[in-house]
Amino acid sequence: SVIFVPMNENLNPENTNFSNEELDVEKKLRPLSFDDFTGQDQAIENLKIFVEAANQRDEALDHTLFHGPPGLGKTTLAHILANELNVGIKVTSGPVLDKPGDLAGLLTNLEERDVLFIDEIHRLSPIVEDYKIDIMIESGPNARTVQINLEPFTLIGATTRSGLLTSPMRARFGISSRLNYYKKELLTTIVQRSAEILKVPISMEAAIEIAGRSRGTPRIANALLRRVRDFAQIKGDGNITIEIAQYALKALRV
Ligand code: ADP
Repeated sequence: SVIFVPMNENLNPENTNFSNEELDVEKKLRPLSFDDFTGQDQAIENLKIFVEAANQRDEALDHTLFHGPPGLGKTTLAHILANELNVGIKVTSGPVLDKPGDLAGLLTNLEERDVLFIDEIHRLSPIVEDYKIDIMIESGPNARTVQINLEPFTLIGATTRSGLLTSPMRARFGISSRLNYYKKELLTTIVQRSAEILKVPISMEAAIEIAGRSRGTPRIANALLRRVRDFAQIKGDGNITIEIAQYALKALRV
């Protein structure tokens, strides 16, 4: 028999649960460069090489796929790649792009080497051809397609469900990188970094405590840190001590 355990919302990494305000804070906490990014060493090491090579040749980076559970840094890495390539980035997601025209609008606005980031790409219908796109004009008996030539660009796709990608879609990505859950030590570093950005003093012990409750996921670590910060402010003197952290995490039932 199956037992359903109700999800504790404090531990849900799906970003659809996040308010606009929280997503704004998330942006502030987002690392902007490779050097600022903690963990995923193997993936980062390879990406650095691909970026440097593309930069040297003055070419667009190959299309890149990030897969893995929510909250591990796929969106963050897409922005980092654009920064490190020194190009612009346009951001969208699979479910939003339901008409070919939507995608065409985005694609035709890309400048040479730009990044187009499509989150939840497994929910996109596979209509992008490399540097070209077929667009259906009209439907019914007058339907016809035209091909538009596009600037070379980099498609970065993110998915939590790589198994749902069609093989033609998967084949478009020259680079594919799987993100893994983070070890507690790395999450501790991330919590300390975020606390510094939020200007809240935190003890080492407290950072370890929050890291240990974060299910290997930076998004959860940051969310817990922000909630614990509230407890520190109201129940303490603003410092996140181990006592405050334990009290808050208990109150949050995590
Ligand atoms: P995903 O796209 O995989 O769902 P995000 O890239 O949106 O995840 O990451 C969620 C949040 O977690 C980001 O705001 C970022 O601050 C934080 N984060 C993710 N990975 C890291 C990391 N390696 N180092 C520091 N912060 C990270």
